[in-house]
Amino acid sequence: MPETEAVAKPQVSIVVPVYNEEDSIPELIQRITDAMESTGRPYEIVAVDDGSSDNSLALLLDYQKKFPGLTVVELNRNFGQHAAVFAGFETARGDVMVTLDADLQNPPEEIENLLELWDRGHDVVGTIRRERQDNPFRKTVSWLVNTTTNYMTGLKISDYGCMLRAYDRHVVESMVQGQEVSTFIPALAAAFARNMAEVEVSHAARTRGESKYSLLKLIMLHFDLVTSFSMWPLRLLILLGAAVALLGMGFGAFLLFMRLVMGPAWAAEGVFTLFAILFVFIGALFFGLGLVGEYLGRIYSEVRRRPRFVVRGVYEHAPAVPAAGKKAGQSTRSTTKSKKKSGGKKKAKSG
Ligand code: UDP
Ligand code: MG
Repeated sequence: MPETEAVAKPQVSIVVPVYNEEDSIPELIQRITDAMESTGRPYEIVAVDDGSSDNSLALLLDYQKKFPGLTVVELNRNFGQHAAVFAGFETARGDVMVTLDADLQNPPEEIENLLELWDRGHDVVGTIRRERQDNPFRKTVSWLVNTTTNYMTGLKISDYGCMLRAYDRHVVESMVQGQEVSTFIPALAAAFARNMAEVEVSHAARTRGESKYSLLKLIMLHFDLVTSFSMWPLRLLILLGAAVALLGMGFGAFLLFMRLVMGPAWAAEGVFTLFAILFVFIGALFFGLGLVGEYLGRIYSEVRRRPRFVVRGVYEHAPAVPAAGKKAGQSTRSTTKSKKKSGGKKKAKSG
């Protein structure tokens, strides 16, 4: 822990996963800082470098000299967005944690709207993207994902994809304790929340860099989401298997009946039909096998108990206390602005 901790503890931790976002970082840090300064709440920014291969890490460490309250967590390699957010959670010290994308699609100016709901006692504040700025394909997929996932998991989340969210420290601690390897943070938080709220937030198009999610990566993420929170696919498989088997039996009876009524010649013509049916069965079998394999794979990765991320270094800085001072009626542990202007302290940690 840094020596400054006794002096000031942040109320808000802004946790940002960063993967090859060098073009967005300058504006990102500036806008978060401006937005937080205007709230008057003591805050820290925890930027997690998720194994970037560009200049992101160096840039962040450089910014640390200029911006008090920026902590940088360096992961050993690319572990994925949700693992990176977890790494940030384990380092962050705030009473409430706000997650945010580094590409500025989530405007930092919205953070205060989330915090006001947290002030009113909501332990998880979810968001719905107003006039979402993504291509129609992504929007259609998201609509499908939101509807089917809510149905399968029994959760009630309007927009799974929006990562601008606020979580009370208690919820974060429960999530961190869970030690699940592949999971989906907004859904996990909803499962732990006692008093969740949702608020509409604006959404911007990505103007710098490119999306880190290919179609395949998106499908994999959705697999994580569904299999983490629901046994529905397995149950569906049982129902489907039973239906296919019943149909098969019915068809067998039909064939036998035709054979008896129409004579032996009729049955031979059914060979191709049988082939078709066989393919359907084989297809269903593979589908089921794959699905069972998916769960088996998850069990395998859980029993292995490999760390979900490995931290190479944590470069800490003192929390920033806005010059404007305390917000009326709000309890803060300190009003001292940090004078420390160094590249931060490095602290080794294993995840
Ligand atoms: N991200 C990450 N690790 C990854 C992929 C993404 O830390 O393996 C970060 C990325 O830098 C960004 C956020 O997760 O801050 C969301 O990624 P992106 O904007 O590419 O996703 P999209 O908005 O296209 O869903
Ligand atoms: Mg994005």
